[in-house]
Amino acid sequence: MPRGIIYLIFLLVISCAKNSLVYEEIPEDVLFSCIDYDRVTDPNFDSDDLYAFWDIFVADAKCSMRNNPDYDNLNSIVNMYYEYESAALTASGEVLDYGAYAASSCNDEVVRVGIAFRYWNDINIWQKLGLMYHEFGHDVLRYAHSTNPDDIMHPSSPFANTYNGFIKSKNRFFDKKFEGINYIDCSWYN
Ligand SMILES: [Zn+2]
Repeated sequence: MPRGIIYLIFLLVISCAKNSLVYEEIPEDVLFSCIDYDRVTDPNFDSDDLYAFWDIFVADAKCSMRNNPDYDNLNSIVNMYYEYESAALTASGEVLDYGAYAASSCNDEVVRVGIAFRYWNDINIWQKLGLMYHEFGHDVLRYAHSTNPDDIMHPSSPFANTYNGFIKSKNRFFDKKFEGINYIDCSWYN
């Protein structure tokens, strides 16, 4: 084989090896979701409007869950509000010891969710979605807490802070396929 061709083959091998290194640096693909989250990353989106998160959750449940529930129709009363540190608590240098809570898990017609305003301001948009889905998980799907911190229903989940991380955990959430899945006992409720 003429020396020139051998040199050319050598060059091709080098460039292939270089290319595969470049490929490894390409970030993972943007995962599919049946609803578009462009709205929440728009600079005009008001992330303090808790009802916008309810609308997203309702649309997501409708297209993600096998039975296509219409939670907007099922829940005639939807009540969401911020909780603030009292003057006394602030004076003592303390903060609310929870991030949020759901207060109407056993009533299928009512959603009541309280959010600690200070905590809300410390987390990014994907974590806000995770937190809201967690509370709707209690209030609408009657999920109790689960065991893996990567899941939305873990009691002290840090919540995924990226789009893909959120999509992965919310898929497990809607598919009812997460570790330690568990339901709230509503047998006391008429
Ligand atoms: Zn919880």
